[in-house]
Amino acid sequence: MSWQVILDSHMRSGQRLSPEDAVVLYEKAPLHSLRRSANQRRIEMNGKEEVTYLIDRNINYTNVCTINCQFCSFYRPPGHDETYTQDLNEISNRVKELEQIDGVRILMQGGVNPDLGIDFYTDLIKSLRELHPTIDLDCFSPIEIEGIADVTGISTLQVLEKLKEAGMHGLPGGGAEMLVDEVRSDVSPKKGSPANWLRVMSEAQSLGLITSATNVFGFGETEEHRIEHMRRIRELQDESISKYGKGFTSFIAWPVQLENNTYGKRNRGRNKFELGAGPSEYLRHVAISRLFFDNIEHIQASWPTMGLSIAQMALLGGADDAGSTMMEENVVSASGTDKMSASEHELQDAIVRAGFRPRRRNSRYELLDTPDPETKLELLAAPPPTQF
Ligand code: SF4
Repeated sequence: MSWQVILDSHMRSGQRLSPEDAVVLYEKAPLHSLRRSANQRRIEMNGKEEVTYLIDRNINYTNVCTINCQFCSFYRPPGHDETYTQDLNEISNRVKELEQIDGVRILMQGGVNPDLGIDFYTDLIKSLRELHPTIDLDCFSPIEIEGIADVTGISTLQVLEKLKEAGMHGLPGGGAEMLVDEVRSDVSPKKGSPANWLRVMSEAQSLGLITSATNVFGFGETEEHRIEHMRRIRELQDESISKYGKGFTSFIAWPVQLENNTYGKRNRGRNKFELGAGPSEYLRHVAISRLFFDNIEHIQASWPTMGLSIAQMALLGGADDAGSTMMEENVVSASGTDKMSASEHELQDAIVRAGFRPRRRNSRYELLDTPDPETKLELLAAPPPTQF
């Protein structure tokens, strides 16, 4: 079937896009047609007026890691003289700075540190909960949970239960990259199989923790691989919604960042293709993800990797959320991205200039009181952007 027939029929019927049809659209459909359809779907799912954003702070509490992902410039192996692990005092001081700007959550992730067992983590979470009761704690990625389980000698589900009991609210979706065995075994051979990431996420969802799904692409994988990643997430989402009533809050994709990726002379895996992805490929990926995920409510634009201008374009082609202020980030920025934090004013300004009303949210996507944006344009009075 031609891309035109697939897209027309999908938009008319609203039926779920099959992986095979999604690959045809990814490979063949013109970008403007995909973006127009994705924007229409975004309006159906999220309304046409508001774009949400979050005031938060990234905290990368340790850079010690034993996993050695091909693309990572952030980590240092145990014993390296540039390693660090932050203590409660340092972390709490960072959270205080977040509180001063009305922040509502921290996203705390780090390396897989073989010296840290479950007690380090539960003590840290309990103390942060007591010291900063209004801040949501979204912490650790599935590979860190696996690392804690290994060091402590308990299961990943037990680790998650203990962290939840200590006061952790959510498990961010970091470390998914490409959930396709042949890609993952090339770029992150020690990270474990895609099935492990999905299992830990499923366990987190069974406990009611807030979760999101991520996707780093541009490792030289095919369109089939990219859709396979989305298929596996969509399948887990179906299962989680049917078992627990909810699953991932959102899907967030960005191209791998390699500009400054020189630590340990990271090679680029075994693949021989051009790596990364430019703006048009990124926008294609966002549009396809909006059309593909009929069971994930929110699609996030990634301004830290693509810049605010391309993020604005994503908001007009499937995305409904502008991400977060971040305030501090060290993992992606170690690979060469220049701008790794944005003020609330900058995010609001970008949202208003894209034609939407900015709205603060928390990590559960609940809407919060929002200060009026300083930027005032008449765009909101104009018809919603269904055409480009
Ligand atoms: S991406 Fe994460 S798991 Fe991989 S080497 Fe870097 S810190 Fe370790």
